[in-house]
Amino acid sequence: MLNSSDHRLLQREYLLQISRAMTAQLDLLSVLSLTIGYAVEMTAGTSGLIALYDEEAGDELRIRASSGLPRNEWPAFARLLTLPPSELGRRGDMLLREVAADTGLTLRQMIALPLTLRDTPVGVIYVFRAALNVAFSADDRQVLQDFADQAAIAVSNARLYQSVLREKQRLDAMIEQSADGVMIIDSRWRITTFNKAMETLTGWSREEALGRPCAEVLAIENGQGINICLTDCPLQRLPFATNPVVEGRMFTRDGRSLFVQSRYAPQRSSQGQFLGAIANIRDITAQKQDEELQSTFISVISHELKTPVSIIKGYAGTLRRDDATFSAQQYRDGLAVIEEEADRLARQIQDLLDVSRLMADGTRLEIADFPLPILASDVVRSFAPTAGEQFEFELRFPEDMPPVQGDYERIRQVLANLVSNAVKYSPEGGMIRIGGWPDGNHAICYVSDQGVGIAPEEQEAIFRRFYRIDTRLRRETQGSGLGLFLTRAIIEAHGGRIWVESQIGKGSRFSFTLPLGRRKLADEATPQ
Ligand code: ADP
Repeated sequence: MLNSSDHRLLQREYLLQISRAMTAQLDLLSVLSLTIGYAVEMTAGTSGLIALYDEEAGDELRIRASSGLPRNEWPAFARLLTLPPSELGRRGDMLLREVAADTGLTLRQMIALPLTLRDTPVGVIYVFRAALNVAFSADDRQVLQDFADQAAIAVSNARLYQSVLREKQRLDAMIEQSADGVMIIDSRWRITTFNKAMETLTGWSREEALGRPCAEVLAIENGQGINICLTDCPLQRLPFATNPVVEGRMFTRDGRSLFVQSRYAPQRSSQGQFLGAIANIRDITAQKQDEELQSTFISVISHELKTPVSIIKGYAGTLRRDDATFSAQQYRDGLAVIEEEADRLARQIQDLLDVSRLMADGTRLEIADFPLPILASDVVRSFAPTAGEQFEFELRFPEDMPPVQGDYERIRQVLANLVSNAVKYSPEGGMIRIGGWPDGNHAICYVSDQGVGIAPEEQEAIFRRFYRIDTRLRRETQGSGLGLFLTRAIIEAHGGRIWVESQIGKGSRFSFTLPLGRRKLADEATPQ
């Protein structure tokens, strides 16, 4: 038999063990089982249980842990739980007898205490005795109270932990779903969080990125091509900025190049020690390209529009000089140049207008069926006289070429652009062929030349806005770099595609597809 000081010591020991179990982050149910086990032992009970108010079940008491009571007997105790512990008294004794009768367990005495957290009841702890001879004393109550307090703390911890966990899950979901790349690094600059957008942005998978130093995964270069993350990390610059931002070029793992803006939210201790940071990385490539285009646009306009204007002005100024006399032929030649340059100017302006219209509302098409060979010969007829003697034009369509479906004027513009380029980029002249054939439910049409050709690495870029290949010829030929951009936009608006096959020095062949007409032209001619 333990004397009272041994008893107190043991009680302290048990309470300490319960606290340890709590801090070791055992789950709530294990801590409650431990608590009720010790509480029963310390109050010389035979069995006991802990019930908690369940928020999800309308704040009803639910048994969560027991000692000395098989789980299948728990439902029989439900009737006890309907009475608050302070009102148990005689009615409680009666209910206990009913429970004993139902379960066949020897339950003769009961002590019940509320578990309270800052005056709010969170549950009840019950201890039962089989013996009738010794009643629960005030000491027993005190002991049980200590265990009840401990259990209440465990409940409080578990709830706090649950709400922190829920909050963390919510934050994790927000980070994961963020359209921007989000990366969290720890005090040793190692990546601890790496969201989905970050995987797409960098080409690194989360599994590979986690745990790596951030500078290994993220490399942002400044305008001089220097890797800022390695040489001038914005989180290490002195004096420390609260929310540093860097912009620069980033290379993805698979070799793509993006323009990104990276914002950092560093965390520092009160002594200024770096604890970690959240980096938010946004792909601003499109925005940068727009800015670049804007400035290219201005320089193209000023250069391409100014050139014909200054030629016109130069000729007009010369021709109207009072101190010089010109022959009729000289006047005619001068005026011809003025007319040619004015036409060029008008074409340039039309191109620019087309591009801005295209940017604003796409291409509106007036669709009809028409024969491609007729359109092609129409275009050749308009080019042949000015192209020069060194050019030969040839049309190659099958006899029974079915009509295509499209906007005649727009497709005329496409062919005119391609033929005009074929002439412009064939300084030696040569054969320019326009041909086509039906292929499934669409037609393939091409324009080929024997000109300077286009290097493989330029063959995609030439379709971009304002793109002109940088060669001597470029400087000698007029152009805005808008022709192929417009051409592709028109073809794509028709549901077709355009591509080029070319070899430097041998020539180029631009091909595009168009849908075939719904009716054969012959049907159209058939009288109704
Ligand atoms: P532009 O002719 O006004 O410069 P385009 O968009 O029509 O603009 O063409 C873009 C660039 O593609 C040209 O500057 C030229 O370098 C190249 N290119 C287009 N067509 C040909 C061709 N048939 N042969 C060789 N290079 C071409």
